[in-house]
Amino acid sequence: MIGRLPIRWRLTLWYGAVLAAVLTIFAATVDLLMARVLRHGTDQGLDHQVAVIEEQILQMREPVALRERLALLFHRHPAFEMQVTENDDRAWLRSEGVEKQGLPRPAVLPETPGEGVHEDVEVPGVGPCRMCSKVIETPYAFLLVQTAASTDANRKHLGELRRVFLATGPILLVAALGCGYLRARKGLAPVERMAAEADQITASRLDRRLAAPNPDDELGRLARTLNGMIARLELSFGDVQRFTADAAHELRTPLAVLRGEAEVTLLSDREPAEYRRALESMLEEIEHLTRLTEDLLSLSREDAQIPPSFEDLRLDEVVRDAFGTMTAVAAEVDRRLVLAGELAPCLVRGDRERLRRVVVNLIDNALKYTRAGGLVQVSLALRGDEAVMTVADDGDGIPPEHLPMIFKRFYRVDASRPRWGSSTGLGLPICRTVVLSHGGTIDVQSAPGAGTRVEVVLAARPAGPPRREEPAASWRSRPSYLGNG
Ligand code: ADP
Repeated sequence: MIGRLPIRWRLTLWYGAVLAAVLTIFAATVDLLMARVLRHGTDQGLDHQVAVIEEQILQMREPVALRERLALLFHRHPAFEMQVTENDDRAWLRSEGVEKQGLPRPAVLPETPGEGVHEDVEVPGVGPCRMCSKVIETPYAFLLVQTAASTDANRKHLGELRRVFLATGPILLVAALGCGYLRARKGLAPVERMAAEADQITASRLDRRLAAPNPDDELGRLARTLNGMIARLELSFGDVQRFTADAAHELRTPLAVLRGEAEVTLLSDREPAEYRRALESMLEEIEHLTRLTEDLLSLSREDAQIPPSFEDLRLDEVVRDAFGTMTAVAAEVDRRLVLAGELAPCLVRGDRERLRRVVVNLIDNALKYTRAGGLVQVSLALRGDEAVMTVADDGDGIPPEHLPMIFKRFYRVDASRPRWGSSTGLGLPICRTVVLSHGGTIDVQSAPGAGTRVEVVLAARPAGPPRREEPAASWRSRPSYLGNG
């Protein structure tokens, strides 16, 4: 119930509850202390009166004269009732208020000679009293001297104090609750403002930021965190917008070429050979479009972060399978594709299809950017608990100023450079996204004229020698060497 209230009300109620508890404890403590102080004062008065009587007793040597003197001096007193008795209860003195009934015997008889014993008693005819009893030794008898004082006045003082507490406590509490509510409302006003500002921030207004009156307090930190989140969203939105625009542009070009080709071919009647050439050229564009669409689909799947279906798999088998697929392509385009030594048998945790795609993409690039007769070497080694897969070529290489950009989407060092096949500028970004999602790293070393070496490192552990059985049918029956995408 309280949890559903607005924060300012919850704060106020908590504040009120704590304050009420503090006030109650304070009032109870003051009440207790006050009662003690008053009792102590009364006890001191009683002690003093006992001392006065004792002084008289000790001065007088003769009992009859002592009795007369006690009666004369202490028969009447405005604050105290007094009694002096012998051990056998014979009264030597009883003041006016207790003349008939006397003062009660103390619950515990004081020792001789000892301190006065104090206690609360009910004296008939007088009411609740504080009483002091003390035994005094005289030459003729042990005398019990008792003094008592009504506690009415003390109770009255305490009652007044309690009334003051009861009257002022609720007023203080209500005043403090009011102040607390106003303070909480004022303190939380920036939150309301921030909420209103955040409402204004939509996908098209991501350049806006939340204002924080005090950047160092909690709300300032919250505003900074939210602003950081909005900045990241702005970046992501920018990326998505750029990606969409680039993708549309990339798709438009081959479509325009296709359309132009078809229109030009249809302008007049042509020889069958000419139609054939036109169709072949159109087929090339269609292949490029197909590849572009596959790459875009792959990237959007990677971006959507569909939960990966990771399993323990033999990376050497994945590399061997991709290598086998690409050997046919290499032979077709007159490049030499070789394994640089035995592939190290190793197990990695990952997604077989996506890792295969990485290897295929890298070999595809190496074949694309080498001259006819060029050499492409694939290797897989275990280095501690890491598998290191490399694809190295002796091709054109990449100029250093382009190296930092080659993992950007649609980035191509030179759009006209692939010596065969098509270039989408998405191959390396896909490789990097896949490798990163496997917790690995991908690194490119290249220099113009000196070839390119791409190294992929993944966490791995050694496995037994390669298995003899055929690779799974699901990856063999696929028509495109790029896999499902
Ligand atoms: P694509 O190969 O489809 O153009 P990538 O993202 O795979 O796209 O590569 C981006 C760019 O990096 C390529 O356009 C090419 O210029 C350069 N590149 C990639 N691999 C190599 C390589 N092995 N040798 C030389 N240049 C390469």
